[in-house]
Amino acid sequence: MRFKDKVVLVTGGAQGIGKEIALGFAKEGAAVACFDMNQDALDSTANELNKVSKGKGYLCNVTNLSEVELNVNKVIDNFGRVDILVNNAGITRDNLMLRLSESDWDAVISVNLKGAFNCMKILTKPMAKQRGGKIVNISSVIGIMGNAGQVNYAASKAGLIGVTKSLAKELGGRNVTVNAVAPGYIQTAMTDKLDDKVKEKMLARIPLARMGQPSDVAKAVLFLASEDADYITGQVLVVDGGLI
Ligand code: NDP
Repeated sequence: MRFKDKVVLVTGGAQGIGKEIALGFAKEGAAVACFDMNQDALDSTANELNKVSKGKGYLCNVTNLSEVELNVNKVIDNFGRVDILVNNAGITRDNLMLRLSESDWDAVISVNLKGAFNCMKILTKPMAKQRGGKIVNISSVIGIMGNAGQVNYAASKAGLIGVTKSLAKELGGRNVTVNAVAPGYIQTAMTDKLDDKVKEKMLARIPLARMGQPSDVAKAVLFLASEDADYITGQVLVVDGGLI
């Protein structure tokens, strides 16, 4: 029960990796708020969270700063504070540069990078005031190694690493840690849509010879958000089965 009495906010928490992270925190005693765009998925995840702890879903588009502010205030009204923020909401709009549209570039940067900025922007002040907090940003190995067909996604995830390292320096004096987790190929809706041939190629490059599971990522996030990681900040923990 590492997170008893803690309040956690997980963006994109209604499904996939975010849901696994939210459930992981709840199983260890935390009250968990999820921001997501999918009301049905939010409702069903909130039901599951309430079976083990306290949980609530908030329909919130993280790309919109005032929407984020409004919903963070609702979370604070409901649960009193936010101790841990996990910026997990993310999308892909893959295409080779030659065919990549401006709107696909903007959409990915807007959710993956600006969405995380918005949540950090609103929570920095309360976390600094309470002299404690943990922020974990979900980046990707693609932000470290690059990938053909993903210049927008790679830019957003590399950007998130830069933000992580910079904000860690800004907030260290207030006992707020900021770290990132960079997952490799994880079995979720995002990777299910990949072609079988692409999946085979990927598997052949992974020393641990399997795709990761959302729980593999959740365990790393929970570690960085726990007291065990109190003296770790500005780091990127790669969870990729040895891929990079
Ligand atoms: P999913 O698509 O399964 O889940 C992402 C969630 O984020 C969805 O519920 C989605 O809602 C939500 N979301 C999207 N846009 C917004 C928004 N503007 N505001 C609020 N919520 C939003 O993805 P994964 O679980 O696979 O990925 C989670 C994170 O992990 C992402 O940041 C991804 O980049 C990262 N990652 C994933 C890897 C993988 O292999 N799966 C590898 C490396 C990193 P909706 O469905 O309604 O759009």
